[in-house]
Amino acid sequence: MPPSTCVSEFRSVLHESTSIVAVVGAGLSAASGIPTWRESGGVWKTYDPAAIATPEAFAANPSLVWQHYHAMRERALQATPNPAHLALALLCIPTLLATIAPSAKFTLVTQNIDGLDMRAVQDTAKQYGKDMPAGHVCDVARVFEMHGRVLDTLCTSCGHRDLNTSSPLCPALAKSMLGNADTKIPVEDLPHCGLCGGLLRPGVVWFEELPHHSREIWEIVDSADLCLLIGTSSHVQPAAAFAYEVADHGGKVAVFNIASSEGDEERDFLFLGPCAEMLPRVLFGSG
Ligand SMILES: [Zn+2]
Repeated sequence: MPPSTCVSEFRSVLHESTSIVAVVGAGLSAASGIPTWRESGGVWKTYDPAAIATPEAFAANPSLVWQHYHAMRERALQATPNPAHLALALLCIPTLLATIAPSAKFTLVTQNIDGLDMRAVQDTAKQYGKDMPAGHVCDVARVFEMHGRVLDTLCTSCGHRDLNTSSPLCPALAKSMLGNADTKIPVEDLPHCGLCGGLLRPGVVWFEELPHHSREIWEIVDSADLCLLIGTSSHVQPAAAFAYEVADHGGKVAVFNIASSEGDEERDFLFLGPCAEMLPRVLFGSG
């Protein structure tokens, strides 16, 4: 049977669910002007992500890696959450969640590193007189930034992790010309740790590294009865594995994405369109 596109049928499933997990990918941030890696343009198109986003790549050429992440940091700092982020943030407010899913707990798992999911949750929680400390799971909501945050720095010597919203992180990066990756910044001019003086690296999860919170996320996926795949191709890992696990134990899977992808035909619901329009409408709109 092909996936349903019926909003009222989806709302009935949502209403009966007890544990909802939303797995979010790059499509969620498209309306905030955050391009995917491949869309980021300029010289970066010529680099394979695996040649930039690995510990080995950083060790071999920290200047190149930092210039790339500097550009991503600047974009993240200028971006603001869009209506899709805000719709998910509303689900993090227990009283609002209860209006559409009275018995449910909600967990947001984001693969994005732009920090917009957490910003939307923090802003929304504040509006409702709640507190959502940065980088923490609290009683307001469970939010897991499984691939870290582009605005975090991580010390390669002492392991200190810090949220740093300085723009730029250091003077040399201000001078680095986007698209001119041949400009080699001496290591001593790259960002260094305020505690121990060690070289800082971007605080994101790279290829070959373990995602954050894996154990907690799998525990939640194991007991979820509704999985929302949002802005992510449903055949790409880890979204595919989470969806299959939820379906395997009898839960439902709903896909929200700009276009359909391989594996969508096995899902229960499919809502195609820009996430910033589709998600608020299907979750809260008049149908
Ligand atoms: Zn350090």
